[in-house]
Amino acid sequence: MSQNDFDIAILGGGPTGCALALLLARVSPRPERIALLQADHQGRYGYTPEQDPRVLAINHGSRVLLESLKGFPHQAALIQTIHVSQRGRLGRTVIHHTDFKVPQLGCVVRYASLHAQLVTAVAQSGVTVLNGPAARINAQDQSSIEICQGEQRIRAGLAVQADGKPDTESTRQYAQMALITHAQASLPRPGWAFERFTQEGPLAVLPHPDAAGQQSIVWCCTPERARALSQRSPEDFSLALTHMFGTRLGHLSVNQPVTAFPLILNMPQTAVDGRAVAIGNAAQTLHPVAGQGLNLGLRDAAALAFSLQHWLESPTRSPAQALAVFERVRGPDRQITARLTDVMSRIFTTRWPIVEHVAGLALLGMDVIPALRAPLTRHLLQGMRL
Ligand SMILES: Cc1cc2nc3c(=O)[nH]c(=O)nc-3n(C[C@H](O)[C@H](O)[C@H](O)COP(=O)(O)OP(=O)(O)OC[C@H]3O[C@@H](n4cnc5c(N)ncnc54)[C@H](O)[C@@H]3O)c2cc1C
Repeated sequence: MSQNDFDIAILGGGPTGCALALLLARVSPRPERIALLQADHQGRYGYTPEQDPRVLAINHGSRVLLESLKGFPHQAALIQTIHVSQRGRLGRTVIHHTDFKVPQLGCVVRYASLHAQLVTAVAQSGVTVLNGPAARINAQDQSSIEICQGEQRIRAGLAVQADGKPDTESTRQYAQMALITHAQASLPRPGWAFERFTQEGPLAVLPHPDAAGQQSIVWCCTPERARALSQRSPEDFSLALTHMFGTRLGHLSVNQPVTAFPLILNMPQTAVDGRAVAIGNAAQTLHPVAGQGLNLGLRDAAALAFSLQHWLESPTRSPAQALAVFERVRGPDRQITARLTDVMSRIFTTRWPIVEHVAGLALLGMDVIPALRAPLTRHLLQGMRL
């Protein structure tokens, strides 16, 4: 009989941690022995989940997973067409949902609504939820791992770090900040998402889940410009945004506060450390270009639950074999997605005309030759499946 308090302790109840808890509740014979430890303080960007202003582009595969977990929010804006272009240079690509025979390429949801829906589902799943101070791994030995949550000490067979923060130093500090806000388009195009590469970073204009014609803006630019833009009046910000994006949606009128997020790449070599394993942003923190971070984290959660299902039948055994399978299965997808987003975020910012032209030609080539477009789009839509 196990002396441990829990079979698995998940540190961090963000979208990835909640999704994992729900997946494990399905495969565990005793869901109450899965603990989800959620800190009641603000997260790494200074927001609680309810206040988080981010909106997230969720691909079709992630939506199907979240719906199966009853974790998909009621309000979502569909993405049926993606328009990719480069500001001031030749080349653009348009991707339609019909190219891939799916009802939509993805959708856009509010971080806060997604989180609230997942928390409701977790509350009904039988998993033990422990809200309190920040949790941390204290020590591990042959038979268990010890976690501290304030004064409380918990022993588990396995700890999953889903707290959104890799333990290692960042691999790259991008010379970019992401400005997040909403805008009303004077010529809205329902179902269209735009990714426009500028010399300072990518600018995404997505349909917003709140109302038709509302656009969600993720504008990546230099920290100096981000600071200057944040201080402008809504009218001046709107003019600068419309100038940078162009007139495909008419005039963009910003009607919400602007918030800034620092951007880093953090890609530790391994996600496994003895009886501890990291998933989601705790395993890899990416540039938000092409909206890959959470989609990757949800694939981590699905693969981990699958790898652990046999171990959960007899959790006094070492989880090493199950974790080795997880690491082997997830490695290529994590590495390729991190590299792809890293290159995409920087290739258009080199200010070397030859590189910008080549990147523009690549966009054009992908537009006219579906065989070039398909593999990249498929990876961004569903990741690497082994
Ligand atoms: C500007 C921006 C735009 C983005 N856009 C997209 C997008 O369009 N599509 C997409 O897929 N991804 C996007 N992402 C990435 C996405 O937001 C993250 O990948 C996702 O939020 C990761 O979820 P997570 O649960 O792993 O971590 P988090 O969302 O960071 O959640 C971690 C949770 O753990 C809690 N916590 C922290 N420390 C502790 C502790 N010590 N103990 C217990 N709990 C703790 C926190 O309070 C938090 O609730 C974007 C990111 C940014 C910055």
